[in-house]
Amino acid sequence: MPGIDLNTDITYLHGVGPARAKVLKETMGIATFGQLLGYFPLRHIDRSRIYYTHELQPDMPYVQLCGKIIGFEHLGVGSKRRIVAHFTDGHGVVDLVWFNSLKYIEQSYKQDVLYVVFGKPTVFNSRFNITHPEMERADRVELSRMAMQPHYSIPEKAMKRGITQRVMVSLITSLLQLLQQPLPEVLPPSLVASMRLVGRDQAMRAIHFPGNSSVLSQVSYRLKFEELFFIQLNILRYSRQRQQRYRGLPMSCVGDFFNTFFHTRLPFPLTGAQKRVIREMRIDMGSGRQMNRLLQGDVGSGKTLVALMTMLLALDNGYQACIMAPTEILAEQHLQSFRSFLGDMPVRVELLTGKVTGRKRKEVLAALKTGEVHILVGTHAVIEDNVAFHNLGLVVVDEQHRFGVAQRGKLWRKNVTPPHVLVMTATPIPRTLAMTVYGDLDVSIIDELPPGRKPVKTVHRYESRRADVYAGVQKQIELGRQAYVVFPLIKESEKMDLQNLEAGYERLCTLFPQYRLSKVHGQMKPQEKDREMELFASGQTQILVATTVIEVGVNVPNASVMVIENADRFGLAQLHQLRGRVGRGAEQSYCVLVTSHKLSEETRRRLQIMTETNDGFEIAEADMKMRGPGALDGTQQSGIAFELKVADLVRDAQIVQQARDAARRVLEADPTASLPGNLPMWQHLATLKSQTVDWSSIS
Ligand code: ADP
Ligand code: MG
Repeated sequence: MPGIDLNTDITYLHGVGPARAKVLKETMGIATFGQLLGYFPLRHIDRSRIYYTHELQPDMPYVQLCGKIIGFEHLGVGSKRRIVAHFTDGHGVVDLVWFNSLKYIEQSYKQDVLYVVFGKPTVFNSRFNITHPEMERADRVELSRMAMQPHYSIPEKAMKRGITQRVMVSLITSLLQLLQQPLPEVLPPSLVASMRLVGRDQAMRAIHFPGNSSVLSQVSYRLKFEELFFIQLNILRYSRQRQQRYRGLPMSCVGDFFNTFFHTRLPFPLTGAQKRVIREMRIDMGSGRQMNRLLQGDVGSGKTLVALMTMLLALDNGYQACIMAPTEILAEQHLQSFRSFLGDMPVRVELLTGKVTGRKRKEVLAALKTGEVHILVGTHAVIEDNVAFHNLGLVVVDEQHRFGVAQRGKLWRKNVTPPHVLVMTATPIPRTLAMTVYGDLDVSIIDELPPGRKPVKTVHRYESRRADVYAGVQKQIELGRQAYVVFPLIKESEKMDLQNLEAGYERLCTLFPQYRLSKVHGQMKPQEKDREMELFASGQTQILVATTVIEVGVNVPNASVMVIENADRFGLAQLHQLRGRVGRGAEQSYCVLVTSHKLSEETRRRLQIMTETNDGFEIAEADMKMRGPGALDGTQQSGIAFELKVADLVRDAQIVQQARDAARRVLEADPTASLPGNLPMWQHLATLKSQTVDWSSIS
């Protein structure tokens, strides 16, 4: 019998007519045999056990009962219309509830027939209910074969149109019977052998019906590995091609700019981590390859200085450098700190933002073109088409997650040979995620804070104790320090949030008549915002009332306390970023998270993590565990789809690493994609890329 084509339309499967095919396609994305086969179960459930009704607990995920229906009842009207079957096994009564096909239900389920009922028990009107249970006549159930039943994730819509768990099981069963020829292997045979992987044919079948848990763990390992392997293969191959295509600007020289700075201008010794990453970049930039590096360092770890010293290396080799920041405030801060770091060194640093206009702008652009400007500091303005460099050699992108891939790409074209690129982020990205999202970037990590930093003391307080909180703020201001008070502001509830912020501002003005306050939020005009920020930065105001606009980069070392109102409305990464605004000086700093008493379990956990640790990496890991990788900053714009089917970047971190190592070995052995044994692998990669739009943009 010839092999069955997996691209065959699903209507050709026994049990699938045009109506069912339509449902499968519209609600579950299953249009072909292959897609059905690849619709892996969410989990496997032990259905060899029957519970008694008196054993039921409200938190049980699924149970199976065996008993009889003792009567039907029609209840409710309109969309609440339902049929309830009272069901008993002699130990108690459970209500089975259906909201659709009421007539059909009443006709097909008979009283006095013994049924096995499967579903999730919930408590309603102090009685256990199972809504839309699966029913099977007990004499047709073979419990011994039910130990590892697949359980598919079936959308509500599909369920309503008849796609039950049982239907899925029967469709998959008929499909597997039809597929008599083994499914071809897509991994290189040598890899399958050396890693002792289950073959693809066995894996694809057994993931549905594993039989026992040890088989399940072997086949799911194999499938996770395969999924992650192809992602890594794609990334690594892409990065190889990029390295071959673009020769990097050669920057092997360490000259006067760098050395003079190092010996005469450096205001403090570099931390070990700063030294290490500067060395990594020096080697990278001198290697003849184009540098494409992600620099991760927690807030306050000293990335700016590292960026400056790397730019001096570019200058030493005769090139210009530029740094792009996400906001005007940040760009101006960089300008100021660069100028003060450099002092009287003959390095010309200029600013280019939307605010630089008229004659000044013309002057900067002209001096940039002749090469008189060594370092350009700016916002998005620097990637505009009319900005031309004389000889751009290095681009630094600060706070990466605010820039999209496309914007980064634009910078590349600012020189015939693309400049070296350094992307800096303070949002630590867990390793597995970095390997997957930024897989083609090399990663440097500053994992050490400058000495003398005292970790910010963080506490959680309820609104009812706000008076104490502000007494603490007053104490700090009396010591000569400054304070931030932060309010949430999101688009969905913008109006109320602004009112909230205004009310808070008024409250503080009344509470602290002796102090001066600044106020900053996203709705203000940029000039107004900047003026208020400057008043605070220069110490003329003592309290800054603000929204998250201060989240990124703002540096006022004298600020030693931050109060975050409605802290429950911020995510972990955001809270950590905000908190990074304090603790930048030598003084002990404080962060107070204020909330109401009504908090969900998850929110409590989040606030607790904040009070327990200052370590951005720990927080990022926790965040990823709680919300899943797709929710993290920086992943949305990266272009990768986080719809991993079987693997999980948190739980399967180890497999991510193994898949990456394996992909690298395969590429090294077969750099030109010409080994016959790897042919199916390359073909499979091409298929994957053509099927998933987002795949092509991983880079
Ligand atoms: P971030 O990594 O958040 O961008 P910054 O570069 O703004 O951090 O650095 C935070 C502060 O630490 C700055 O005031 C900077 O001058 C200072 N700093 C940087 N490196 C060191 C060091 N090695 N020793 C002491 N202070 C440092
Ligand atoms: Mg910074």
